[in-house]
Amino acid sequence: MNLKEKYRVFKEWQQRPYQVAPLTQEEHTCATCGTSYQGNYCPRCGQSSRIGRYSMKTAFLLFLDVWGLGNRGMFRSIRDLLLRPGYMIRDYLGGMHMAYFPPFKMFFLLATLSILVNSGLNIRGENQLVKVVQTYERSIDMDIRTVPAEQKAGVKSGTDNERLDFGEKINGTLKVFIRFLIDHQTVVELVWLLVLSLPLYVLFRNCPAIPDLYYTEFFVAMIYITNMMNIVSIVFSFFCVNLDTIGFISPILSIVALKQLCGYSYLRTILGLVASFAIITIAVLIIVVLVGIVVGLTMAMNAQ
Ligand SMILES: [Zn+2]
Repeated sequence: MNLKEKYRVFKEWQQRPYQVAPLTQEEHTCATCGTSYQGNYCPRCGQSSRIGRYSMKTAFLLFLDVWGLGNRGMFRSIRDLLLRPGYMIRDYLGGMHMAYFPPFKMFFLLATLSILVNSGLNIRGENQLVKVVQTYERSIDMDIRTVPAEQKAGVKSGTDNERLDFGEKINGTLKVFIRFLIDHQTVVELVWLLVLSLPLYVLFRNCPAIPDLYYTEFFVAMIYITNMMNIVSIVFSFFCVNLDTIGFISPILSIVALKQLCGYSYLRTILGLVASFAIITIAVLIIVVLVGIVVGLTMAMNAQ
């Protein structure tokens, strides 16, 4: 089989919805209640027919189950999120809930795992969160260090000192803000998803693959896409690869996922994403200008 043929088979696999294995005619007797039945679960008490001797696999699945991981295709969900994200999300939104791990549960479990990996559970055992905070703080301190140099040169005046005080105040606020963002990553991520999904939904809700998409469905899709990106970033964090050097991976992954989900061309998907970011940037600028005008007016009124 040549490469082209392999790719065609892969594409076909990507688009095929998950298939549940057909029911066997095999007769089971439930070990808990003694009922005889055909199928995967006892109709009387709900015990799985696959429970047999206490094997390593049973033990491992029960161990995972403590964190709510041992069921509902967690491994399948991770594989599909990496290899066919958009098609998998379509399956899920189409009603195949038992086939995939629930999106919000996955989101919070990944958030927990991400904190564990970033704070020391990685191959070097180093706290990467502290490093990120330090890098930001250093870059904030950089621009204030230029001011004292001017002062040494003899341009010390009242206005310069005022400017220095003001600069320090701004930098202090920035540091608190960045600390807050890093300490509350999960909430920040959720709020960001809510903001980003508004313009995206307007631009993608009439897409060819799911023509009557609800906003809530689109938001669930965004959570799954974020889960996919979080899985990738956790793997890189585990191997202590600097995320800045592979920063291009996240946008590419999200474009592929969104394209598979909506059924638009790559060009239309990218344009939709760019337009959404532009709309958010303009909205933020307008808010900043409005706040600036209000603050300016209040200060002017107080001065009088
Ligand atoms: Zn039973």
